[in-house]
Amino acid sequence: MHRVMIHSGTYDDCRIAVNRAFELFPQEIVQKKVVIKPNVLRTSEASEHIVTNPALLKAVVEKVEEMSPAEIVVGDNPGLFNYGDNENCFEKTGLMEAAKGYYRNIGDKSQHLSFNGDFIPEVGVSKDIMEADIVISLPKFKTHGLTVMTGAIKNSYGILPGAQKARLHQLAGSPERFHEVVVEVFRLKIPDLFIMDAIVGMEGNGPASPDLRDIGLILAADNGVAMDSVVAQMMGIEPAGLRFLQKAQEMGLGSFNADDIEIDGELLILPDFKLPPLRGEAIASNPQVQELMQTKSELRPQADSELCTACGACVDHCPVTALSMNEDIPEVDPELCITCFCCQEICPEKAMTLM
Ligand code: SF4
Ligand code: SF4
Repeated sequence: MHRVMIHSGTYDDCRIAVNRAFELFPQEIVQKKVVIKPNVLRTSEASEHIVTNPALLKAVVEKVEEMSPAEIVVGDNPGLFNYGDNENCFEKTGLMEAAKGYYRNIGDKSQHLSFNGDFIPEVGVSKDIMEADIVISLPKFKTHGLTVMTGAIKNSYGILPGAQKARLHQLAGSPERFHEVVVEVFRLKIPDLFIMDAIVGMEGNGPASPDLRDIGLILAADNGVAMDSVVAQMMGIEPAGLRFLQKAQEMGLGSFNADDIEIDGELLILPDFKLPPLRGEAIASNPQVQELMQTKSELRPQADSELCTACGACVDHCPVTALSMNEDIPEVDPELCITCFCCQEICPEKAMTLM
């Protein structure tokens, strides 16, 4: 039996709900590496509610601090194409300040993992995520044009640095297969605790829609399938009709069946909740979107000989040894490169450009 907490909350008092979440889902924090991952879609103002609100992040950071000593890291890999812009996304949204000095650019080192060969043989996942003893995921209650909703499972898509997200979008080819990709990424490192910002949610054509909805809730769970099932029900969606929930349940990652989920609180079905148009088909069949994804996923790093000091850091950090030094300048093997762009993030001279 899973359990999902549904607790009232505002951005001023969200610490109360966070305390309750840790009571219901206790975590052994002491001496552990704890990575807290908000949903940072892109550079935006917190008032646009495109990202997890800084007030919730701050409440979680302070709770974990209180339970420390622990190594605390706050990070995400924003966007599909926003490489090189990690700090800026955190600064502008207010998440940098909320991270209280624990922010880290988790896009600068990745660990190579094998993936479902139906899509791509290997991916690079942020090393901080893979090395974490405890991952606390902070999703936002939002709709999503391709996956209908974005919640606990979809927040894990941000464990992939660089342009891999765009590449997988493009390789998936259809909304149905993209749902499966999202679950394949989620299972690479399943978070231990999910605390969702549903204080102000998003409806309409998310994940960056101007249609906001005052909901006044914070959800928590230690199972992402159960949490997303509850979110779907709140949005008026039948969980069994979402391919990503079907796939996650088939893979044994949890149950979306209401009979398997105990609710701590009250499940509120939001009246007349606006869902994205065409449930993903609009994006999947849009040639401009597909072309953009293809172009971005074909980018490869190239060192600028004027700026490069031949320090070798990029070569050392490439998770798939796609870089080697050739006459004091790193060269990429485009066949081996998985487009994580860790080389660009790690370069102290900002000498890596994308071509
Ligand atoms: S990290 Fe930057 S400066 Fe160092 S070798 Fe690579 S491109 Fe050159
Ligand atoms: S060359 Fe750069 S972008 Fe390509 S896999 Fe290596 S670190 Fe990632």
